[in-house]
Amino acid sequence: MQKIQNYINGELVTPRSGDYIDNHNPATGSVYSLIPDSDERDVEIAVQAAKKAFPAWAAKSNEERSNILLKIADLITDNLDQLAAAESMDNGKPVWLAKKVDIPRAASNFHFFATGIIHYASESHNMGSEYINYTLRQPIGVAGCISPWNLPLYLFTWKIAPALASGNCVVAKPSEVTPMTAYLLSELCIKAGLPKGVLNIVHGYGYKVGAAITSHKDVPLVSFTGGTKTGAEIARVAAPMFKKLSLELGGKNPNIIFEDCNFDDALKTTVNSSFSNQGQICLCGSRIYIQRPIYDKFKEALVERVKKLKVAAPKDPEVKIGAVVSEDHMNKVLSYINLAQEEGGKVLCGGERVVLDGEYKSGWYIAPTVIEGLDHTCRTNQEEIFGPVVTLQPFDAEEEVLEYANSTAYGLSATIWTQDLSKAHRVAAKVKSGIIWINCWLVRDLRTPFGGMKQSGVGREGGWEALRFFTEPKNVCVKV
Ligand code: NAD
Repeated sequence: MQKIQNYINGELVTPRSGDYIDNHNPATGSVYSLIPDSDERDVEIAVQAAKKAFPAWAAKSNEERSNILLKIADLITDNLDQLAAAESMDNGKPVWLAKKVDIPRAASNFHFFATGIIHYASESHNMGSEYINYTLRQPIGVAGCISPWNLPLYLFTWKIAPALASGNCVVAKPSEVTPMTAYLLSELCIKAGLPKGVLNIVHGYGYKVGAAITSHKDVPLVSFTGGTKTGAEIARVAAPMFKKLSLELGGKNPNIIFEDCNFDDALKTTVNSSFSNQGQICLCGSRIYIQRPIYDKFKEALVERVKKLKVAAPKDPEVKIGAVVSEDHMNKVLSYINLAQEEGGKVLCGGERVVLDGEYKSGWYIAPTVIEGLDHTCRTNQEEIFGPVVTLQPFDAEEEVLEYANSTAYGLSATIWTQDLSKAHRVAAKVKSGIIWINCWLVRDLRTPFGGMKQSGVGREGGWEALRFFTEPKNVCVKV
């Protein structure tokens, strides 16, 4: 069975403990590879390697760093098929989705920040003829980057690329649920000639490896994407150590559909924004608020479409809904469907596990599920489910839907559907979310600030925001 290895100081190495964790294929439920069960000893070696590599990496010109990162981007693109197959096998997502979205985006992340750093400028503030201030934006040192399982290589590289481009060295940990493409990336980094110690990837559990990274005294900045509870734990440890922190956390996103929307566009995109990647995208809309005059029509059309989404093995070219990521996660999602019914919700379609045939019969599949009849304050509508489950609720007035939309502890993203642009802008300004899409969803320009409000996070990623996070501004005032 394939054994994944850590990538430390430029080499692929086994964990100090000699122990491994089973890695499952969600499509079949079977173990197909082994993940290093690393601990603080591996993290210590990785941090020391990164510290040693830092002065030379930081001293390279932006162009030199850019050239190496561009090579990594090209290698990701050259290995698209292999990486997409690996991502799908690790995560359960359709192969076509990994090929169309996850892996191209991982290449774009490197490409974007490799070119962005060449254009990155810092400010100067001229004080008449006597004094001038200029601001240096210097790399900080060893950055800790910790990522989740839902978009494994996509989100892993979204942190690593700006950290490296701006001259930091990195100790990174992918999710122990989906480590394979991060491992394959380490092989590509070696091929690309990334100097040893610049990027280190330590695999294993969050409570061991993640905790050792976030509490390490020589890791002054931590970029984390994952659940809100884990984010709170990281903040509890890192804040008293005065680390720089970027936290991208959970969501419970509203779709606000007004009666004057373009019905067909709203319908088509709502199916996507509800069920893409089995509903396991932090930006998926899971609370669908529909204005009363079109509620029944929209509900019927939505349910009809959702029933047609093909639940199948990730390799099936026609698949729309693949496997959810793990047995635990499947049981969590199913428990929320039960809860919704206990709370008085009516399941309009889906609502159960799907058992496929043959080698896939023990895989973790859930039928896409639409529920109505719940109040916006119930647990089903307040807590993150993170699976192929959405609720529908009618509303009458704009103020009312704003109250519903803003009623959760989260504030990551929202979609607004109307052809009245004044209303769209008015509502966008009042929804408490970091990312709003009007008449579209998941359209991403990598220059824009990305992140959430309230318990969806602290700080922003993307564009200059990311490069600012990974650099320290230092103002220098000169008497001319
Ligand atoms: P998670 O919080 O369980 O794990 C995320 C990562 O943190 C993993 O690598 C894990 O091993 C590590 N970790 C766990 N405990 C740790 C600790 N004590 N110290 C340091 N690291 C630790 O999240 P998940 O289940 O992998 O991912 C799903 C969650 O991620 C959902 O809540 C989803 O909304 C969120 N998410 C948010 C965004 C965003 O941009 N806001 C994007 C994707 C996913």
